[in-house]
Order: sequence, then structure tokens, then C-alpha cells
Amino acid sequence: MNQLPKLLGFQLNNQEWFAENVSLLSIAQKYGTPCYVYSKQALIEAFSAYEGACLRLDGSRRARVHFAMKSNSNLAILDLFAGLGAGFDLVSGGELDRVIAAGASPAVCVFSGVGKSVAEISRALQVGVKCFNVESIPELTRINAVAKQLNLIAPISLRVNPDVDAKTHPYISTGLKDNKFGIAYESVLETYLAAKNMSHCNITGIDCHIGSQILDINPYIDALDRIFLLIKELRTHGIEIHHLDIGGGLGIDYGGEEAPNITDFANTLLNHIESCGFGDLEIIFEPGRSLVGNAGLLLTKVEYLKPTEAKNFCIVDAAMNDLMRPAMYEAFHHIEPVVQKAIPQNIYDVVGPVCETGDWLGKDRPLAVEPDDVLMILSAGAYGSSMSSNYNTRPRAAEVMVSDHQTYLIRERETIQSLFAGEHLLPKKNEG
Ligand SMILES: *Cc1c(COP(=O)(O)O)cnc(C)c1O
Repeated sequence: MNQLPKLLGFQLNNQEWFAENVSLLSIAQKYGTPCYVYSKQALIEAFSAYEGACLRLDGSRRARVHFAMKSNSNLAILDLFAGLGAGFDLVSGGELDRVIAAGASPAVCVFSGVGKSVAEISRALQVGVKCFNVESIPELTRINAVAKQLNLIAPISLRVNPDVDAKTHPYISTGLKDNKFGIAYESVLETYLAAKNMSHCNITGIDCHIGSQILDINPYIDALDRIFLLIKELRTHGIEIHHLDIGGGLGIDYGGEEAPNITDFANTLLNHIESCGFGDLEIIFEPGRSLVGNAGLLLTKVEYLKPTEAKNFCIVDAAMNDLMRPAMYEAFHHIEPVVQKAIPQNIYDVVGPVCETGDWLGKDRPLAVEPDDVLMILSAGAYGSSMSSNYNTRPRAAEVMVSDHQTYLIRERETIQSLFAGEHLLPKKNEG
């Protein structure tokens, strides 16, 4: 693994990298670094790949994509997907207000997450989300109570933990028995029966989400088969399910992985659902990473080259606060200079300025670089900017979208002042 991932929207031309024909070097010069760059064309192509399976030839729908906005919640990206007909999967009240700010309708939003607060539930009920993806009986009880108080009915789906192994990184596997997500398979029936007896809950669906960066379709088929058994059992108890939400989690190519083709993946699942007799259900996909991951990259400038006895370090101006995935999951991101120079290569650990040993972006990378060169860290469109922080009082990076050969600033670089604007000193004792 250290191959260039297959990219849409970014091309190498005469030793120089471009985003839809705009030079990445010119973007770095215009907007500064670190800077996230997205290709609108790549976002549209990834979305269309799902739609290729979700839409029938006559234009009717087999399924709908609900973008998992925690992967990238920039308003311009939400607006783009909303315009293409996406719904959204959200996991907090903050994300709900973001998606509304982007102009999307709450009626196409499903609300996931294990810890929904009373305030979040109340707001979601008032604006009218499509449904709550419920993860426990206490949550169900709380949703019912809040709905009763507001004199509203809460549409609910139960998130099933199907106990299948998605064979991904332990931190991003969510469908196994021993993690915090979903309702244990054996308890699903009793939880639906409890929901049925709640005055202000209306059962509309069933959902699961088995993990992230999944490269194999089999765990999805296993999860579906287990859910089909539940749906049949629920029918015998007079509970009709209207929608089936398969979750997200499809993996992408970061550096040589064989990621399933999106359209084939979605077609295989939809065909399986139909062949098992569940084609009448409304089907939902909740992809995040596979829509945005390879449509974005992070530009960073080389500050110093620091040879040491054990290693050569390439110290850049992006850090773990900008892109947390390497520090958090030991994730691999391909790194490449935006202008390829005919100078000797060295092996470098690419690291940021943050005061943590875990602050690295790539290890043992062959690079032909000099100070002030601009590098691109690929596949950074998902869980990049949205997971960024201000650690070490570092302003969050600018974000730029390339669209039809133009660049648009879709998020301004934060100012340092804004980072402590909400902080207050203790009052000083009066002296004398
Ligand atoms: C994170 C998440 C997703 C998206 O996962 P990806 O791996 O980015 O596709 C979908 N559904 C739920 C409930 C999630 O928590």
C-alpha cells in the first residue's frame, strides 16, 4: 500500500497537479496553507454512482441516499447534495441546524446517535425530521415523553446491532455485540413491542450501520439477512415496517485498496433486498466517506526538512488538528508534491508542528521535496475538516471548492482572535 488512489476531479499534467484544471499550487498561493480543496465534479460523480443504482430507468426510485453529514458538514457541500436530491443522516442538534442552514428540509433527515439530549429531540420533533434512529429503550422512553409534552408524534426506527463482523478498524466497527451502538439483536423484538405501546411513537422503520471503511460486501448481506428475519417476526406481532435503512460504511481507495464500485455495491444490495421479497420497502443508504473521501485533499507547505540519526522528518504546516485520522486510527493518506521536481528522493516521516508524538500525517514516505514546496494529502474529503480542532490554538484551515474551472472559498480560515473570543478572565481583586 502506497499507491496513488484512483481519483476523480484531480489530475497530473506536465509534472503538476490540478483540480479540474486549476493548478493546486495557484490555490495554495491564493488561499494559503493548510487548505482543504474539493472537486465539485468528483462529489457529483460519487453521488451519481449511488443514483445509478437508486433510480430505475423510468425515473422511479428504488432507494434514496442520505448523506452522513458528519463526514463533511460544510454548508456548500450540504447544499450541493441537497440540490442533487439527497437526504441526510445527522447525529446532533448542531448538525440539524447546519443542514437547515444549508437549505435542506428536515423531512429528509434521519437522526442517529446514541446520546440524543432532550433539547435535541425537542428541536428535531418541532422541525419535523423524517425519523429518529433509536439506539436504546431509555432513549425511546425519552423521545416518547418529549413528544407527549409537545403533543407531537415521533416517527421512529430502531437501530439494530446485527452482530456481524465488518472486518474493519476496531474504532470504526459498530455492528459487533460489544460496542455501544444499536440495540442487541436478541432485544430488538421486545424493544419494538415496547415502542408499539408508547402513545407518542410511530414505528416507521428499521436501521443498522455496521461500521466504516468496509471493503467487503458480505457483512452487508449478512446484516440484511438478519434484519429480514426480524421484519418477518415483527409482522407476526402486527408491526409493519415501512423503511429499511442499511446505513453507510462503504470503504474507499486510500492507497491501493480494492474498494467496491459504488453502483455495483448498491445494485447488489438492492437486488438482494428485492429477491428476498422486501422490494416494497423504502430503502435508505447513509454513505459518508464514499461520497466525499476522494473528492477532497489537504494542501500543506513544507516548513523544514529535519534529518536526524534515526529518521528524516518533513515538517509541514498542517497537523493532527487539521487531519486527525493518522493520529487517531493510524490511517494511511497518500502524500505527493503538487509540483514534481527532478531532485533526489528521501524517505520522510511527514509531521506537523503540534506538540505530540502522535502528530504525524505519513510515515516512511519517499518524497522529492524542499522547504516551501506544497504537498497534497489525498483522500482527505471525509473526516478531515469535520474532525478538525483548535489544539495548540491553531486556526482551522480554509476550505475551497473547485467548480467549472473556478475556485470558491467555502470556509474562511479561522482568525486567531476568534479562537479565544468567548473566553473570560476571572475578575481581579480590587487593589488598595
Ligand atoms: C458515520 C455513520 C455513517 C457514515 O459512515 P461512512 O463510513 O462515512 O459511510 C452512516 N450512518 C451512521 C449511523 C453513522 O454513524
